[in-house]
Amino acid sequence: MTTLIQGGQVVSPSGAITADVLVDGETIAAVGAPGTLAGDETIDAAGKYVLPGGIDAHTHMEMPFGGTHSVDSFETGTIAAAWGGTTTIIDFAVQAKGTSLLSTLDKWHSKADGNCAIDYGFHMIVSDVNDATLKEMRSCVDGGVGSFKMFMAYPGVFYSTDGEILRAMQQAREIGATVMMHAENGIAIDELAAQAVAAGRTDPVEHSLTRPPELEGEATSRAIRLAQVTGSPLYIVHLSASQALAAVAEARDNGQNVFAETCPQYLYLSIEDMMKPDFEGAKFVASPPLREKSHQADLWRGLRTNDLSVVSTDHCPFCFKDQKELGRGDFRAIPNGMPGVEHRMDLLHQGVVAGEITLGRWVETCSTTPARMFGLYPRKGVIAAGSDADIVVYDPAATQTLSAATHHMNVDYSAYEGFSLTGKVHTVLSRGRVVVSPDGFHGNAGHGKFLSRELNQYLN
Ligand SMILES: [Zn+2]
Repeated sequence: MTTLIQGGQVVSPSGAITADVLVDGETIAAVGAPGTLAGDETIDAAGKYVLPGGIDAHTHMEMPFGGTHSVDSFETGTIAAAWGGTTTIIDFAVQAKGTSLLSTLDKWHSKADGNCAIDYGFHMIVSDVNDATLKEMRSCVDGGVGSFKMFMAYPGVFYSTDGEILRAMQQAREIGATVMMHAENGIAIDELAAQAVAAGRTDPVEHSLTRPPELEGEATSRAIRLAQVTGSPLYIVHLSASQALAAVAEARDNGQNVFAETCPQYLYLSIEDMMKPDFEGAKFVASPPLREKSHQADLWRGLRTNDLSVVSTDHCPFCFKDQKELGRGDFRAIPNGMPGVEHRMDLLHQGVVAGEITLGRWVETCSTTPARMFGLYPRKGVIAAGSDADIVVYDPAATQTLSAATHHMNVDYSAYEGFSLTGKVHTVLSRGRVVVSPDGFHGNAGHGKFLSRELNQYLN
């Protein structure tokens, strides 16, 4: 069975060309000049973009956090992703202290296996650095997990000391893996947060005020220095602050292998959202926190100059009712995280509409670069013969309004409630199968397969 996607603008990092795309089974058979290919079935893409499926390299489905867990399962989260034009997620397996990396990986495989509607991979969160763990990092790489996330925040939970980070980076350098860093100075932040609560300042906005951007900048610089000393590649996750961006840009200018991602919430939302009355600010509690709006222009510039090379969501949804509400009276008890996996492609398309980024850059930051960064290229991230037929037909002229009433994520609010957007997903193919069309969702849990990833393809 072949399908011809006809007459669309096929977008890659180098721009858009009008072309037909022939899908045969699970892969792309050919990309040709209009009218030169034929298929058993046809999808009319005239007036639309044809994109490589989005790759969200930072999600947390069913993630345990502070006695509760994020509310999207691998099934609901990947279905929501598909609705929004994302056909691959890379989720985080979370090592609990006192457990091994390989048993953690097994556990996450059993959570995801048979439950995902789109393809998926894993990164590994390392929270217990010891001789055994360091050895296991190599086995993780052999198992297709070549990226390891560490935390300079959350003392007592995920936090690693500089010494532990140094040891993990030495091992990463040895095995060609990339260290991903949550770069905020958690020791200083916990002190500021305790002082705020002691002074009676307990509202959600204090979450941002006690995590100032300087402490993200400081931790980012420190991570960069540790990476420099060890020779490890470094990938800064969810960069939110101008200070952190400046540190990344400087390191890159100096020739260091430092990469960074940002997320839509830092481009479109701000600390003002956290001041909403009736505890609604809790909906926007994530770490790093939303910043003053003045950071946004720098982040867009970073996306243009490639100092920010990836956009992911850090999708980690907690319901307002019963979960976010755990922090009434003490912002420290608000589960950290926001929903977003469904809206990344649309929100970044707004950057194209507004002239912040080009069409090619949209696809590059949301699909092609994450594929290369995390060892999936050219299987994913490109419309080319031989690649998986993960394809989004995108209507740039359609309009939509985001709302919890219509989204598909399993969470009772939208961080973008009422946002009016230009552009909307029309059709989504996952490995050749139409999973979203204008008349609905046609995929199923279990269609998505585990992706054994190669190492960072910018370096290996
Ligand atoms: Zn995260």
